[in-house]
Amino acid sequence: MNIVLFGAPGCGKGSQAKLITAKYGIPQISTGDILRSEISKNTELGNIAGKYINNGLLLPDDLVIELVKKTLQQPNCQNGFILDGFPRTLNQAQRLLEFINIDVAILIDVNINEVERRALYRRICPVCGKIYNISNKYIEICECGNKLIQREDDKLEVVRHRIEKYLANSEDIIEFFKERKILATVLSGETPEETFVSVDKILSEL
Ligand SMILES: [Zn+2]
Repeated sequence: MNIVLFGAPGCGKGSQAKLITAKYGIPQISTGDILRSEISKNTELGNIAGKYINNGLLLPDDLVIELVKKTLQQPNCQNGFILDGFPRTLNQAQRLLEFINIDVAILIDVNINEVERRALYRRICPVCGKIYNISNKYIEICECGNKLIQREDDKLEVVRHRIEKYLANSEDIIEFFKERKILATVLSGETPEETFVSVDKILSEL
């Protein structure tokens, strides 16, 4: 079962990937994780990627595609995988389908205002990592006794910037997956478990 999971930042695709892995036993492949691993292992691709990252430059498509291709050829991906955070552009989507078959591309559709609202009210404990939603009840102190903080990634201008970057490419990618007849759209529910009911329905029909 070869899956692409995508959606706006904050749509909860990370949680869905974990739930799919738990039920179907296929690995979540995140380009961020691949990069960190290649860089720490000092591979040739990792060293090249590291130079771009250290200079604050965007990685060229060719390099990202090489890394993804190499990862998907590993034995743990032979029964399937969940691609998370890739493809990010139409070119990456087209190139991906040239070297591997994708059974379904699941778009987790979420209201952008809702993403901003969730980020605005999200607080995290810097010590134990527990995450709080303070929209209904204002809390400043974690149950472990430490002061809660708002993550840099949850600040409104950061959230907006990431969403804009996503929206710049998402329409083309959605259109492309639709043309290839592999697009499935799932509405983001109140909880990850609620969203997973719809995701699971799609997967069980494959
Ligand atoms: Zn805590």
